[in-house]
Amino acid sequence: MTLRDLANLALSRIFAPPCVACGHPIPQPLDGAVCEVCWSRVVPFTPPLCANCGIPLASWRAAEHVARCCARCHRNPGVLDRQAAVGPYEGVLRDVLHALKYDGRRSVAPMLSVRMRAAGRDLFEAVSLAVPVPLHRRRQWRRGFNQADLLAVGLGLPTTRLLRRVRATPPQVALPAAARRRNVRDAFRLSIDEARRITGRADARLDGLVLMLVDDVATTGATLEACARVLKEAGADEVRALTAARVVTAPRR
Ligand SMILES: [Zn+2]
Ligand SMILES: [Zn+2]
Repeated sequence: MTLRDLANLALSRIFAPPCVACGHPIPQPLDGAVCEVCWSRVVPFTPPLCANCGIPLASWRAAEHVARCCARCHRNPGVLDRQAAVGPYEGVLRDVLHALKYDGRRSVAPMLSVRMRAAGRDLFEAVSLAVPVPLHRRRQWRRGFNQADLLAVGLGLPTTRLLRRVRATPPQVALPAAARRRNVRDAFRLSIDEARRITGRADARLDGLVLMLVDDVATTGATLEACARVLKEAGADEVRALTAARVVTAPRR
């Protein structure tokens, strides 16, 4: 028995910290706030996936042939270049994200980042920087942290706070799709000081950069699209997006 095993045993005997997803005591508390059984129940998205939004397709035949994307992306490609998520926003993944955001269980973030890195491995090529989706400063002050920052840090990319949220917006989850797009339009601005700092350019242009937006959940993708639009308007070559979870609503063809 190693020292770590002994420490785990002692911690689980004394504190018996419950798993944030199932509530059972965790046998290895040093490994995080989610038990191994629950992690193994996270259902990841599996191919075939839409080449644009990363949502699973019923089959490759269901993809619009050349672009290999879902019907929705085919109709409305948006400005984001590629997206990926670990899995649908349900079950254990949703419980873990709730624990992170609403119970302040920051210790789940590194394990989520590991899974995000695996789910988004095809997206990392040529990426210069991770850009966490910002919270409005009042919400961040109340929560004490931005979950997107924590997830971005664990991806192993240099992280930059290139965006500012200039309007406090109601939580996306409570709104229908059209209202979500209105809700986040003009909510984000480029941080000119940060753009100058990372590029060394007085004009704060982002030409030549491939950026990876990072967030906890993509609901309709309206927030990520609004962020991507700001970065593209500032000259970014490509903007990709990686989230821990994605809401899958209507069946996608
Ligand atoms: Zn559990
Ligand atoms: Zn798609």
